[in-house]
Amino acid sequence: MTLSLSFPPTRTEALTRLADFVPRAGRDYASQRNYDRPGHRDVSTLSPYLRHRLITETEVLQSVLGRHSPAAAEKFVQEVFWRTYWKGWLEMRPQVWRDYQHGLTAALNRVQTEAGLRAAWESACLGDTGLDAFDHWARELASTGYLHNHARMWFASIWIFTLRLPWELGADFFLRHLLDGDPASNTLSWRWVAGLQTQGKHYLARPANISKYTEWRFGKGLALDVSAAPLSGPPHPPRQALPETQRPDPDRRTGFLLTEEDLSPGHALTGITVATSCVLLGTAGRSPLTVAPAVADFTRAATEDCLNRFADRLGTPAGLFETPEDVADWARAHDLEQIVMPHAPVGPAADRAARAARLLADDGIPVLRVIRPYDSLCWPRATAGFFKFKAHIPAFLKEIAGSKAA
Ligand SMILES: Cc1cc2nc3c(=O)[nH]c(=O)nc-3n(C[C@H](O)[C@H](O)[C@H](O)COP(=O)(O)OP(=O)(O)OC[C@H]3O[C@@H](n4cnc5c(N)ncnc54)[C@H](O)[C@@H]3O)c2cc1C
Repeated sequence: MTLSLSFPPTRTEALTRLADFVPRAGRDYASQRNYDRPGHRDVSTLSPYLRHRLITETEVLQSVLGRHSPAAAEKFVQEVFWRTYWKGWLEMRPQVWRDYQHGLTAALNRVQTEAGLRAAWESACLGDTGLDAFDHWARELASTGYLHNHARMWFASIWIFTLRLPWELGADFFLRHLLDGDPASNTLSWRWVAGLQTQGKHYLARPANISKYTEWRFGKGLALDVSAAPLSGPPHPPRQALPETQRPDPDRRTGFLLTEEDLSPGHALTGITVATSCVLLGTAGRSPLTVAPAVADFTRAATEDCLNRFADRLGTPAGLFETPEDVADWARAHDLEQIVMPHAPVGPAADRAARAARLLADDGIPVLRVIRPYDSLCWPRATAGFFKFKAHIPAFLKEIAGSKAA
C-alpha cells in the first residue's frame, strides 16, 4: 500500500533510487507515468532529493541518458526540465511568490472569521470531505509526504473547483506536508490548475480520467464540478533580471552559509578556503502555520547528511540557525570578511539570507551567492511558456553531456 512509502534523507538513498529507476525511465515511463498506482513504481519518486539537491538535475539527466536515447527518455527529461522551468520563471518574477503569501494571509484571516470556510478547510485538510478519492490523497500526503503528479492535479482541481476553497490554502496545505514542497513548482502548479498561470486555461478533474488512471480504485460516483470557469487574476508582473554569480575574493576570511536549497554545494566551494560554516534553515518559513514535523525532520537530516559528506571542506558547522540574526552574530563572532553561499532561489531561505545580508551590510561583510552553472544555463530561457523553453532542451542536453553545467 502507498502509505508505506518512505524517504530516507540521504544522498546514498537518492543514488540507489536513481539506479533502480533508470531502467524504467525510457518508454516505460512515457507510457505508464500517468497511472497513480500504489507504491508509485512508474515514476522516480526522486523529487524530495532533487528539490533539496541531494542529487542534481544534471546527475539524473546524465544517468538516464546514459541508458536511453534522448527520444526514448523524452518524457522523463521534459519532466525534469519542468522543474527547472518553474524555478527560472519564478526567479524572474519573485512578485508572484509575494502575491501568493499575501493571498494566503488574506485567506487565513477569512478562515478565522468565516465558520463555514473554516469547517470546509479543516475537513479538506483532514481528508474528511466524503469525496473518497480526495480524502485518500489528503491522508496519503499527510502520512507519506508525497503524492503522484496526477493525484496532485486532481486534488488541486477538486480543492479549487468542487470544494470552492481558496487556492492559496491548498498550496499551503501542500507546502506544509510535501517533502519536496517547493515555492516555484508548488505555487506555479497550483496557479496552473486554477487557470492563473496560463491565463484562462484551467485543469478540471474528471471522474472518468480518475477512474482510468487509478485503475478503478476511485472515480465511480465522484460528484465533481466539471464545468467550473477558470479563476481570474492580474496579468503576470514584468520580468526582472536574473541574479548573477558573485565572485568571492580568495584572500578574504570566508564563512560558508548552507541552506536546504542546495545540499550538493561543491560548485560553490571552488577556489575558496572556508574558515567557518553554518546552516540557515528555512523550512519553518514555508508556511505561517506549523510545517509537518516529517518535513522539518527530512530537511534537517538531509542537511546533516550534506554536512557529513562535506566535513573536510566545511568543518563542524557553528550552528544550524533559524534566524538571520543568528547568522549575523556568527559572522561577527568569527571576524568574517565575506560569506559565500550556493544561491537560494525565491522562497523562505532566500528571504532569510537576504535579511542576513542587510544586517551585515553595515559591518562591510558581503553575502555572496554562487549560482550553479546548470541554473545559469537554463533559467534565462524561462521567459515565456514551457513550449518555448522546451525548444532549448536539446541545447541544454548538449552542454550537460559536455559536463559544463553541473
Ligand atoms: C498542484 C501541484 C503541486 C506541485 N507541487 C510540487 C512541489 O512542491 N515540489 C515539486 O518538486 N513538485 C511539485 N509538483 C510537480 C510534480 O507533481 C512533482 O515534481 C512530481 O510528482 C514528483 O514525483 P516524482 O519525483 O516521482 O516525479 P517523476 O515523474 O519521476 O519526475 C522526475 C522529476 O521531474 C520533476 N518534475 C516532474 N513533474 C514535474 C512537474 N509537473 N513540475 C515540476 N517538476 C516536475 C521533479 O523534480 C521530479 O522528481 C506539483 C504538481 C502539482 C500539479
